[in-house]
Amino acid sequence: MQNDFLDTAIEFVKGVGPARAELLKKELGVFSIADMLNHFPFRFEDRRSITKIEKVKQTETYIQLIGKIQDFADEGVGKGKRLKAWLYDDTGTIELVWFQGAQWVKKKLNREQVFFVCGKAQEFRGFYNLPHPEIEVFDPETIKKEQRIKPIYALTELIKKRGLDSKALSQITFAIVHDPRFSIEEYLSASILTENNLIPNKEAYIKIHSPSSLDDVNHALRRLKFNELLDLQMKIVQRKTQHKLEVKGVVLDEIATKFNTFYSEHLPFPLTEAQKRVLREIRMDVKTGKQMNRLLQGDVGSGKTMVAWFTMLMAIDNGYQACLMAPTEILAQQHAETITEYAALVGLKVALHTGSTKTKQKRTVLADLEAGNIDIIIGTHALIEDTVNFKNLGMVVIDEQHRFGVEQRAKLWAKYKLPPHVLVMTATPIPRTLAMTVYGDLDVSVIDEMPPGRIPTKTVHKFKKHFTEVALFAEEQIKQGKQVYIVYPLIHESDKLDYQDLMSAYDDVVRYFPLPKYHISLMHGKLKPAEKEAEMQRFKEGKTQIMMATTVIEVGVNVPNATVMIIENAERFGLSQLHQLRGRVGRSSAQAYCILISGNKLSKTARQRLQAMEKTTDGFEIAALDMKLRGPGEIDGTKQSGLLDLKLSDIAKDDQLLYQCRAVAEKLLKEDPKLELPVNRALKLHLQQQSKGKVWRRIS
Ligand code: ADP
Ligand code: MG
Repeated sequence: MQNDFLDTAIEFVKGVGPARAELLKKELGVFSIADMLNHFPFRFEDRRSITKIEKVKQTETYIQLIGKIQDFADEGVGKGKRLKAWLYDDTGTIELVWFQGAQWVKKKLNREQVFFVCGKAQEFRGFYNLPHPEIEVFDPETIKKEQRIKPIYALTELIKKRGLDSKALSQITFAIVHDPRFSIEEYLSASILTENNLIPNKEAYIKIHSPSSLDDVNHALRRLKFNELLDLQMKIVQRKTQHKLEVKGVVLDEIATKFNTFYSEHLPFPLTEAQKRVLREIRMDVKTGKQMNRLLQGDVGSGKTMVAWFTMLMAIDNGYQACLMAPTEILAQQHAETITEYAALVGLKVALHTGSTKTKQKRTVLADLEAGNIDIIIGTHALIEDTVNFKNLGMVVIDEQHRFGVEQRAKLWAKYKLPPHVLVMTATPIPRTLAMTVYGDLDVSVIDEMPPGRIPTKTVHKFKKHFTEVALFAEEQIKQGKQVYIVYPLIHESDKLDYQDLMSAYDDVVRYFPLPKYHISLMHGKLKPAEKEAEMQRFKEGKTQIMMATTVIEVGVNVPNATVMIIENAERFGLSQLHQLRGRVGRSSAQAYCILISGNKLSKTARQRLQAMEKTTDGFEIAALDMKLRGPGEIDGTKQSGLLDLKLSDIAKDDQLLYQCRAVAEKLLKEDPKLELPVNRALKLHLQQQSKGKVWRRIS
């Protein structure tokens, strides 16, 4: 957005002046007319819809009342100090309350005048009140004259105190968009506008700041959100396209002996259609001579390990080495067991390399790796260390992606001329919208099918006081030869207190499951890696029937004989984490159970989370809900990315628009990768200005 008028400094706008300009700059970051126009209203009041006081109910949205003030009073002392006022109309009376800025409000209150009041109603002891409502003198004449939807702008307390309220701001923006000099160039082609049913840019700015109907608001919002999401997707898709054009990768075009031998002679079970499809997608990628950067999403238990194994074979069959990186020692250990078994069948050499590998053994492994005597190395972060050198690394598989940062990934191949292909696997399903933004520069494969014969895990929520019932149920399962997990959240930051919590919980559990009849494994942060492994092994071999653990078992552990997952203090876990934990059971054809235990008092979102768990076992549904409950910024790793600093759009709610923008961006860049066609010139300029604009803002 650039032209002389839009670049005008804000102090030169009618009705602003130096003092107000100073405030706008400091408080809202508004320096120019363009900035002012991009300070969008965050909601709209329809002045024609007035609620009668007797009809007031608790609402999530704003309501508007018209009435007179009956009385007002200061109440309470210190922090609880508040101003109350009672507003009445011909149907009833309602309490208004302010905890801050009372003096300023009080000056306005006058028993003679009619007021227009706007706020959200809440219930308190059977009565409704409006905390911190906006209140202004009601003037039927201006309302009639205006007859328009009133935009409401976000303001800071300081700005309000200095008398620059939403109305004043609205007058400023109104004057700007109706100024004869006002114009905004259209940077989208006519065909994009029609195909996506968008109003022109200029019209959108006029309608958002001075709408005459709710339809206006909706059209304007749609266009402006489209702008925002398209900018984002253009950036992401451009980055991806560029990577594809420029970064070369090793060519893996032979599907040869090892892959075929294992596939035809040693496959432990037929692959699911989804596993086959994903393998085809990977194969198409790795033979192109470009580096593969692929995200593999598959719910817990969907069989990602088998895909990882075959993917590594693609590298090995072409004379390269492969590596598999896991976030914890236990997981690395477990992968090593599985892969070593498979590898033995086709005569390949596998090694394990973690932080706790003994020095002497480490030295041998690293030497063998460099000499090319090891085909597959499996490990933790330790694989990123400088001492680890491959003879020729062709494939990197990273399990549980969200724990490794982008930089860490890059470090793995920084030392190679030709970067290895990368497959990152995640069992925390990421909502599609988020995958398209935060991980938008990766290609995505999805395993959307569970191995056959799986029965969905039954999930129930129980209160703590019913633990006896739960214990009896678990005992029943143990008697049938099954095993049980009991998980505790990390409550304290320190290992020590956590350990104490776990121990006192252990004392409780042991009363239900006494020795020598029952054996319980204890897993917690204080154990050394070797001890954890040993404990895990005992459980795997069925020597213990119960595994009690803090969240260390969260990811990836595979003990198909375990059929009961009991989660204590379940209300403290996030939805994705609960889903992960539940994924530890239901790994065989036996019916599995997940029992969520909570205290009696639950917050609204905690209850929603537990109910969602009872209702569905679909990881993608859960991920989408998690994002709705927590907001996209709270999902692993997204905050740092800065990609979600969106002003208007919410990628959870505006998903359809986001898909549309992604499609537009992909089509545009496919047809015109560098945006050189005349029809795309305006868009190119716009994108350049967008990135420049940010720099300019930072300098000033
Ligand atoms: P995740 O995707 O969570 O890493 P795993 O790879 O650990 O899942 O697989 C979960 C379980 O399902 C393992 O016991 C694995 O052997 C089994 N499995 C994987 N693929 C299939 C399949 N196609 N048919 C039957 N069982 C399978
Ligand atoms: Mg796994």
